[in-house]
Amino acid sequence: MPSLLHSSMPVRGVAFRLASELPPEALSLLQDFRLAVNEAVRAGLQARSTSRNSLVKLAYKDFRKEHPMMYSQHLVCSFEVAANVLRNHRRSVREGRACAVPYVRRLMMKAENQAYKLDRENGIVDLPIRAGLHVRLRLVVSRYHRRYLDDPSLSLGSLTLLPDRVIIAFRKGTPKPYVPEAVLSLDTNERSMDGVLASRERITPVKADYSEVAEIQSRHHDRRRRLQRKKAHDRRTSRRLGRREGRREHDRVEHRMHQVADAVLRFAEDNKAAIVLEDLRGAPRRSRGKALSRRLSSWPRRKLHQIIEYKAEWRGVPVVKVDPRYSSRTCPICGRIQGSRMGAVFECSCGWRLDRHINASLNLLRTAASAGLEAAGGLRFGPGASQHDVMMVLYGPEKGARPEPNATSC
Ligand SMILES: [Zn+2]
Repeated sequence: MPSLLHSSMPVRGVAFRLASELPPEALSLLQDFRLAVNEAVRAGLQARSTSRNSLVKLAYKDFRKEHPMMYSQHLVCSFEVAANVLRNHRRSVREGRACAVPYVRRLMMKAENQAYKLDRENGIVDLPIRAGLHVRLRLVVSRYHRRYLDDPSLSLGSLTLLPDRVIIAFRKGTPKPYVPEAVLSLDTNERSMDGVLASRERITPVKADYSEVAEIQSRHHDRRRRLQRKKAHDRRTSRRLGRREGRREHDRVEHRMHQVADAVLRFAEDNKAAIVLEDLRGAPRRSRGKALSRRLSSWPRRKLHQIIEYKAEWRGVPVVKVDPRYSSRTCPICGRIQGSRMGAVFECSCGWRLDRHINASLNLLRTAASAGLEAAGGLRFGPGASQHDVMMVLYGPEKGARPEPNATSC
C-alpha cells in the first residue's frame, strides 16, 4: 500500500553553539539530569516498564525526595529520556545485540517547550534550574539560525542542552500538502533519478543526473588507498587522514544530494505534482563483484530518498512510496514480466521499447495509480505518450556547485 507521508508535524533540530562557557549551575543541572536518567533506567528495568507515564508513577515520589531541588518539569523529562533509552535497550535485546544494563554517559538534558524560554530576537535561552534560579545562555546566531528564529510560522519544540551547545527543535505548523494535479514518478539509480512527469495532458520523461557523486566517491576511494599505502608505517596518522577524507567525501556527497533533492522538489512544486518513489526498505542485496558492490553499497540511495521525503514533508509536497518489485522487468503496456535483466533499453515482444529506467518509473507510476492514488485526482495515464517526448533535465552536472579539486592536489 502506498502511504502518504503527512501524518506528523515536521520538526527540525537546529544546533546553536554557546557564546560563552556553560555556567556552573547549568553544568550541575546536566549532571543531576544524567543521574536522574540513569536511576530511572534502573527503575524501569526492574519493573520491566518502558513508558514514560509508568516510570513517572513508579519513581516520581522517590525522585522528588532524592532531587528536592530539581525543577519538576526537568525531572519528568528525565523519565522521558530514560523511557527512550529503555525502548532502545529492549530492541537490542530482542535482536540479540548488546545486553549490558544501559547507562547514559554523555552529559545532556532535555527540556520540553514549557520548561524553557527563548528570546528569539536576541538568541538567549532562559533555563530554570530550580525555584528562583534561572540561567541565561547566549547562543551564537548566524544567518542560517536567523532563518529559523525569524520565521513566525515556526514554533518551538524541545530543547536539548549539551556542555557546549544547544539543540532547539523548530516545528512547522501543519503544512498543507497541495492536491496534486500531476505525478512525478522517479526510479532511483546509481548515477541518476529517471522518470516521468505525468499530467492529465501528457507524459514527459525527466532526469536528474548526479553522476558526479559516483565520481567524487571513486576519487576519494583512490585517495584513501594512496594515503594508506604512503602512511603504511604510521597507522595512526593513516587512520586519521583516512577519517578526514571520509568526512570530506561524506560532506561533498551530502551537499550534492541536497541539491538534487531541492531540484526534484522545486520541479514537483512547479507542476503541483505528487512524487512517487520506490520503497527501498527491504530491497534485496544482490551479490556482485567487489568493485561494483563497493560503489553500490556506498551510494546511499536511501539517504537521497530520506532527504527528499524530509524536505517534501517540510514543504508540503505529497510523496507516495511503492513496492518496486518487478518494476524494471515489467512491460507497462501488456503487463508481461521479462525473464532476465536487459540492456539500456527495455524491449517487449508486444513491440514496446523504452529506456530501461524510464520504463521502470512508468511501472512505479502504474503501481501507485492502481493502488488508488487518490491524491492524483483520478489521473489516467497512457504510457504510450512518453515515447517521443524530449527529456527534461531537473539536475545535471552543469548545475553542480563548486568544481572538484583534482586528485593530485593532496
Ligand atoms: Zn509488452
